[in-house]
Parts: sequence; structure tokens; C-alpha cells
Amino acid sequence: MSVVTRIAPSPTGDPHVGTAYIGLFNHTLARQQGGTFILRIEDTDRGRYVESSEQRIFQMMQWLGLTPDESPLQGGENGPYRQSERFDLYGDYARQLVQSGHAYYAFETPEELAALREAAQKEGRVIAVPSRDLDPAAAQARADAGEAAVIRLKVPREGETVVNDRLRDPIHFQNRDIDDKVLLKADGFPTYHLANVVDDRLMGVTHVVRAEEWITSTPIHVLLYQAFGWNEPVWAHMPLLRNADKSKISKRKNPTSVEWYQQQGFVPEAMLNFLATMGWTHPDGLEVFDLAEFQRVFRLEDVTLGGPVFSLDKLRWYNGKYLREVLGEDEVARRLHAHLAGQKVELPLDDYFRAVARLMTPRMDVFSEFLDKTPYFWREDYPVTEKAQAAIDAGRDLLPELAARLKNLPTFDPVSIKAAFTTYAEEKGLKLGKVMPPVRAAVAGTLESPDLPDLLATLGRERVAARVERAAR
Ligand code: GLU
Repeated sequence: MSVVTRIAPSPTGDPHVGTAYIGLFNHTLARQQGGTFILRIEDTDRGRYVESSEQRIFQMMQWLGLTPDESPLQGGENGPYRQSERFDLYGDYARQLVQSGHAYYAFETPEELAALREAAQKEGRVIAVPSRDLDPAAAQARADAGEAAVIRLKVPREGETVVNDRLRDPIHFQNRDIDDKVLLKADGFPTYHLANVVDDRLMGVTHVVRAEEWITSTPIHVLLYQAFGWNEPVWAHMPLLRNADKSKISKRKNPTSVEWYQQQGFVPEAMLNFLATMGWTHPDGLEVFDLAEFQRVFRLEDVTLGGPVFSLDKLRWYNGKYLREVLGEDEVARRLHAHLAGQKVELPLDDYFRAVARLMTPRMDVFSEFLDKTPYFWREDYPVTEKAQAAIDAGRDLLPELAARLKNLPTFDPVSIKAAFTTYAEEKGLKLGKVMPPVRAAVAGTLESPDLPDLLATLGRERVAARVERAAR
């Protein structure tokens, strides 16, 4: 049987790194076995629905290169892929369970339920819903007559429900601790549990790989599969991404919107590589590997459960690696240029831009650092730091002659420039460390810039001479 995986995000806000993370593992599992990866939108909760959210989830998946095989965008033979477009079918499944005695109509009002809940809490047990014990035919008649009713799952009072999770020992849940969950609301809307299970079944999902936080829902899902007489999928609950203090990843402690990472100029390859290491380690100890390699070696069984920390520093490290060691100069320049264009900074993608990008690649981890670090490449009124000003002041006497020498070099390339400095320093009996900083400070306004000969060659003779002469005054 071919593998079918899915992610089932609810469109309730920003596209979350957790969705990207779970998406990566599901995508990989399907791809490595020639299976199918589905994106289903779980939009049954209309109260939390955010209009733009679905579109932004698609964009995130596309940016990451985790394109689904079936989704509301692509379509597919198991559609529709939005639960809001599937509403009609859930009611029949709920009623089927009423027929078979695995679910029942419940007529309790919200006030009655509140009182029942309070009583249950006091006694430390799940709530006992009186409608559960109604005569089924009588309940059916009341529902047919139009009385407001929900349909609840009739959880067996005794025994246990076992969740067999690929990543864990069997998890035993005592049935007496499981609520008779609502499956279908009075307005005919399904709850998460019913819609999720019915859709996984109808879409032929073979592996439910989702975040750990859903484990407590899984016994309900197992009971539903049993009630319908369906085979369960493989369950695998991935460890939650965590903040540095080990709490569940949250906006307050980490940016959680993938759009933020996009806007900062992280590259998707680095993001994927980083996410792949959350709960999984490459068998050969490789840190940097691409999606194809991940697909080649990943095994679901090898996921480890110790809460992986989503460290921004580590992600930055990955990004820097991709810029410096993986993507290549041309690609970095192209992406940097596109990133800036996205920020409404229009620069020509020419040899000068490429040279600046090449000089700065060792000095940035993400594209968002680029402009702040390079004002002197783009304008004459670049800021001058205090330290740079001090270096200019200390070396002012040297600048006129250095400017003249640089101006008169036969060729203005890094090797000749370097030689000019060395010769000058030798003649004057000065150290290079004395001669170079004032020039660097003069042309860049900072002492933190690329290698000086490269920097000067890139800026060009005219600009360098003018800047050094200006600083000498
Ligand atoms: N709609 C749920 C979510 O937002 C799906 C959970 C699941 O994968 O079953 O994550």
C-alpha cells in the first residue's frame, strides 16, 4: 500500500514554523516512498478563521519547496480539501455511529452542562451526560422532531484504549477518563475529532504524523476508528519545538511566523535543514544536508523525543553556512537582490552588486544584515562611527600621501593596492596596522569592513581618492 501523509493546519493566523516542521516530515515520508502528501485545511472553527491565513500557508509551503500533491490549490481525487466544503458528509458519519450504538443524541443545555461539569470536577471524574442513558428510539424521535441536539461519542465506561505510536511504547488510556466528546454540534457542524478522522479515512491517509500536543486526542480518534470498523493509520507524534527554556515554542520568545524568517532573508534550504535536525540526527553525523539527502536517509523510527530547542542562533548558523558554502556566489547575489527588491530597495543586479555581495557574504548570516553593514557602498553620506573617527584623527597626517599613491597606481586591483600599502609602510617605518585603519575608516566610516584591498578595488579609484582626500582635510 502506498504511503499517504498529510498536514491539516487550521487557518487561524500566521503560517507557523510548527506547520513547516510537521510539513517537512510528512512531505519527506511520502516522497521517499513514492507516496502522496496532502494539505488539508481544517477550517471548521469559524470563530478562529482568518481569511488570509490559508493563502499564506500555501505560500509558506511553496517557499520551502514542500509542495503538496493534493490540496485546495492543486485539487486531487480526494477533494475537496477544505473541511468547510465537506460539511455535508460529516453528519451522515455521525448518524451512522448513532445507528450502530457508538454515539448518541444529547439534549443538555449549556447551563445543564456547566453544572454537570462542575460536579464532575469536584469528584475528579469526567462528566456523566444523562442523555447517554436515554432510550435510543426516544432520543431519535426527539431529534427527528427538531429538538436541538448534539451527537456525542459513547466512550465505553470500562477498559482501556491503547495508542500505538511509532515513536513510543504503547500508551494506555483508561476509558473512564475519556469524555464523551461531541462529534457533531447542534448546528450540524462537525468537531475537530469527527472531521479529522473521517477525512483521514476518506483521503486514504496511512500515516498521521503530527505534533505531540495531539496525543491526548488520539484515544478518541482510535475509538472512532474502532467504532466505524476501520483500520487505524500509523500514529507518530513528533516532539514539540521548544523555546530555549524548554517551554512550547511561542511568539513571545521566538518568532514563530515563517513569514518573519522570509522577510529577514533566511533561505528556505537552511530553514529545512535546521528543522530536519529537530528531533532527528543524520546517521553519519552530517549537519549540513539538503532535502534530497534527508529523503534518502530519514527513518521515522529514528525520531527522538527529547524536546528539540528552536534556537535562532543555530538557524542563523545554518543560514550562514548555506550562504557561504552551499548556494554559490551567483545564487547568493541573485537571492540577495530579490530579497532587497522585496524590501523595496531597488539596486541594479550588476557586477558591482555582485562584488559587494561577494565581499559581504563572509560577514553576514542573513540578508537583513546586508544594508545596515554596507551604507558606504551605496552613498557618500555614510555614517562614521566614533572609533572610525578616532582612527581618521589619529592617522590624518598619513592620508594625503596615501590618497596620492592610490590615485596614481597603474592598476587599481587588490594586489597592487596591497603592495602600495606595504611599500608605504616600509618606507615610513610604520606597521600596516597603523597605515590601513585610517584609510578604512575614511572610505567606510567603520573599522568593520571587508579586507581593505578588496574593499578599495570594489569601490573604485575615484571614490576612494575622493573619500580619503575628504577625510584628510
Ligand atoms: N487542525 C489540526 C491543527 O491545526 C490538525 C491536527 C492533526 O494533524 O490532526 O494542527
